[in-house]
Amino acid sequence: MKLKDKVALITGGSSGIGKETSLLLAKEGAKIVVVDINDMNGQAVVAQIKQTGGEAIYVHADVSKAKDAENMVAQAEHSFGKLDILLNNAGIMHSNDNDAVKTSEEVFDLTYNINIKGVFLGCKYGIPALQRAGGGSIINTASFVAKLGAATPQLAYTASKGAVLAMSRELAVSHAREGIRVNALCPGPLRTELLMKFLNTEEKKQRRLVHVPMGRFGEAAEMAKAVLYLASDDSSFVTGTEFMVDGGITAAYVTPE
Ligand code: NAD
Repeated sequence: MKLKDKVALITGGSSGIGKETSLLLAKEGAKIVVVDINDMNGQAVVAQIKQTGGEAIYVHADVSKAKDAENMVAQAEHSFGKLDILLNNAGIMHSNDNDAVKTSEEVFDLTYNINIKGVFLGCKYGIPALQRAGGGSIINTASFVAKLGAATPQLAYTASKGAVLAMSRELAVSHAREGIRVNALCPGPLRTELLMKFLNTEEKKQRRLVHVPMGRFGEAAEMAKAVLYLASDDSSFVTGTEFMVDGGITAAYVTPE
């Protein structure tokens, strides 16, 4: 087991990447704090972990609210005594997110509050806990769109994920000598609810897949394996990276037939 006696807090843990990562990290011995606003699904993830002999709690927290972020970290330390791993993963892709002309200020602000302010607040309260634990690993979920302009416009989302990369880099530099590693995970397009809701027609799905050399959407479970690497000592000299797990999309100029 790669994470025996470690404690991991995972935001957006009720679904998709967060859910699969909660299950995998638990299998590797970590005690899991599942954080989300979808209480029913979050409790179900906790139940699934417990069924297989793991330890987990669920904490309701809206990552865009300081009080909630502070409480989720406090609950982790209260229940399991410390915090070693923080996955700032909760994020939204609003169905009305579009280009600069069509995207409303409300959609822009909402996206920023969750996708980037949420990462800031997770770190604001999580880093002191990692310092108390003597070090640890932070993984912030960005996206391949932080590196490429999307063919189906989603301006607020794209900009928020670019900000996640910039913030992760600086955090990595600031805390490297405290034994805290910070990396950004950049998933390619995944077959999760979040993206399938946004690419809600076959035409939109195919338009996105044209750009993926592997010719398929990725799976949340494939992201969980990447997070496990970044969370564990296997990546002990890895910090400040933009870890691409994207089916080759950011390497492609034109895709092979
Ligand atoms: P998902 O929709 O399956 O899961 C996101 C989870 O975040 C949900 O459980 C949701 O309830 C939760 N959440 C939303 N707002 C929240 C808030 N304010 N506070 C707490 N929890 C909140 O999506 P996913 O695909 O697993 O996405 C996870 C992360 O991966 C996101 O940051 C997303 O932007 C990123 N990502 C996804 C893809 C993709 O193709 N699906 C690609 C690149 C990056």
